[in-house]
Amino acid sequence: MHIRVPSDIEATFSAEIRKKRFRTNLILYPILVSAGSIFVLAKAHTIALLYRVLVSHGPENEGAPFWFFATVFASVALLVLWILVVLSRRSLLEEYLYCSRCEAFDFDEVGKCPCCGAQLNEKARFLFTFTDSEIEVAKRYGLTESRRA
Ligand SMILES: [Zn+2]
Repeated sequence: MHIRVPSDIEATFSAEIRKKRFRTNLILYPILVSAGSIFVLAKAHTIALLYRVLVSHGPENEGAPFWFFATVFASVALLVLWILVVLSRRSLLEEYLYCSRCEAFDFDEVGKCPCCGAQLNEKARFLFTFTDSEIEVAKRYGLTESRRA
């Protein structure tokens, strides 16, 4: 859902949502890294091939499998971290044309209100969310879902 965020509370509201997302990411991070590592090791044929070439047929080295899996795990951990950082640095709010009469916004960017059809030139900023905890924060600020059509 899209929730319109008035400019006067934008800073405090955004800060609270960012804090919430950071906490969610902290919980998600080890799960994503574990799942990603298992996925890479189980599915990627090039990784399996590399393993055979470098570890199985390489020079005798008892620590090789450990270092191979550690490298895969560390690579996935860095990749997931990078994705989470990029996502969390993105702008939290999206700007759309807005009809204050209908509490509706022009998601399809056609320049008209999806409800009353009026030509729009007023812009507003919206948070896109689908998590209950963020919707709960929005409710605390008195914000509600904006209509799309
Ligand atoms: Zn309208």
